Amino acid sequence: MNSPNEKAVSQPMMSLWINGAAVQPSGPRSGVVTNPATGQVTRRVPFANAQDIDAAVKAASAALPAWRNAPPLRRARVMQKFLALMQANQKELARLASEEHGKTLPDAMGSVQRGIEVIEFACGIPHLLKGEYTENAGSGVDCHTLRQPVGVCAGITPFNFPVMVPLWMFPVAIACGNTFILKPSEKVPSASMKMAELFKEAGLPDGVFNVVHGDKEAVDAILNHPGIHAVSFVGSTPIAKYIYETCARNGKRVQALGGAKNHAVVLPDADLEFTADALIGAAYGSAGERCMAISAVVAVGAIGDPLVKMLADKARKIKVGPGDGEGVEMGPLVTSAHRDKVAGYIDTGVAEGAQLVLDGRNQKVAGHENGFFLGTTLFDRVKPEMKIYKDEIFGPVLVVLRAASIEEAIALVNANPYGNGTAIFTNSGGAARRFEEEIQVGMVGVNVPIPVPVAFYSFGGWKSSLFGDLHVHGVEGVKFYTRTKVVTTRWPHEDTPAAGLNMPTLG
Ligand code: NAD
Repeated sequence: MNSPNEKAVSQPMMSLWINGAAVQPSGPRSGVVTNPATGQVTRRVPFANAQDIDAAVKAASAALPAWRNAPPLRRARVMQKFLALMQANQKELARLASEEHGKTLPDAMGSVQRGIEVIEFACGIPHLLKGEYTENAGSGVDCHTLRQPVGVCAGITPFNFPVMVPLWMFPVAIACGNTFILKPSEKVPSASMKMAELFKEAGLPDGVFNVVHGDKEAVDAILNHPGIHAVSFVGSTPIAKYIYETCARNGKRVQALGGAKNHAVVLPDADLEFTADALIGAAYGSAGERCMAISAVVAVGAIGDPLVKMLADKARKIKVGPGDGEGVEMGPLVTSAHRDKVAGYIDTGVAEGAQLVLDGRNQKVAGHENGFFLGTTLFDRVKPEMKIYKDEIFGPVLVVLRAASIEEAIALVNANPYGNGTAIFTNSGGAARRFEEEIQVGMVGVNVPIPVPVAFYSFGGWKSSLFGDLHVHGVEGVKFYTRTKVVTTRWPHEDTPAAGLNMPTLG
């Protein structure tokens, strides 16, 4: 929860969104939402309890039969109207994301756009739900498959993408014929409410999409409710693991995306300036609060010294300020507690003996003295056993490790427990191909620092960055939100052999 200030109690209280309407929760618990650029509380957010989750499940269950039986094309038409409304409201959604998260407005616009692209993908659902058919799988016997919705689905999302990450989930789930309960991060709750209103305006029947707010209490009520059949989670690794284990124990379908430590491997033949620019954007964009941020650079051979110098020169010039400020390139961190935690990692790095090339701890922004700002920070000569390498810092702190060869660099990346994203910078096709083949990471860039897959591919990491089998959106998202049924059919006629007691073979 954000730290309240004395004005908090006078700020407006938000609502939950259940059965197509804004409703107040049944219990008294609430949190506060803070503008990270000013440090001021802007609104209060009600925390749902088990009773509220039950009300959301009842609404979603009641809406399910009609929605799942609606022809996919009719569902797609609602998605198309939702798409148009989301496009018309893109700036407002970006403004909300920027105000509550702290990221810059252009960055927020980009992330909302990437989310909207998932709605575009979901508009093609009639095609995506088509099954398989085999005529004469056996003599006179045909086989076909059906893709049917799973039921009531839930999504639990992190603070860093208030619009995009929820959109990874619910458009696909709902287009597939499921109903959905979203529990966004309590730090950035407003954009989800706006999307619920827009979806209703698009013609979505009440109860198909619901939004509940809250913390662990709300999440546990979701995980333990027998009326919820599938859970998608995106957040930190310890919570992802907890979600995965609890859902598995409760017999729910689950995909739980976790944290990251994304490496960029820079080979000696890489274009120095191009690479440095790419790394600066990937490390410090959104103040490093991206699950696909590059937080570790592995500099191979002689490129290390000039690369570190160029990174420092460029990082020093980044304009830090409020997300809606003119020309601002990097905003504040999400809460004061998180800013202090990241600053603590800089202390740790110094104590561990890493070389602090650029120190962001004394960053000040005129006129925003109470904002949660931290400047760009760069460490060199970091060793794999250091805490600043091992932990996900999730802030504007880039660490550089040195390696003597591509073999050493690949081994380093593969030894890391995370496996979300990675990138190689090189002019050698052979080296890039080798990297692509050997690296144990779910999303790989070749001279692309943040290889976030487009909506019609699927997004997901490996190892401690994803618990579960299927990635989000794209074809894997459709698979996650549907169950396959295989139907075997025979229409008897005079030549049909009589059934016997032996295992039938159809050839
Ligand atoms: P978080 O794990 O603290 O919270 C995520 C969600 O879980 C929130 O809705 C929160 O309310 C809930 N939650 C928090 N603590 C809980 C608990 N003890 N029990 C049950 N639920 C709990 O993550 P965050 O700080 O909001 O987001 C940052 C993290 O998310 C980073 O680790 C980042 O790498 C990760 N992330 C991963 C991806 C990905 O695709 N792999 C994408 C975005 C963010």
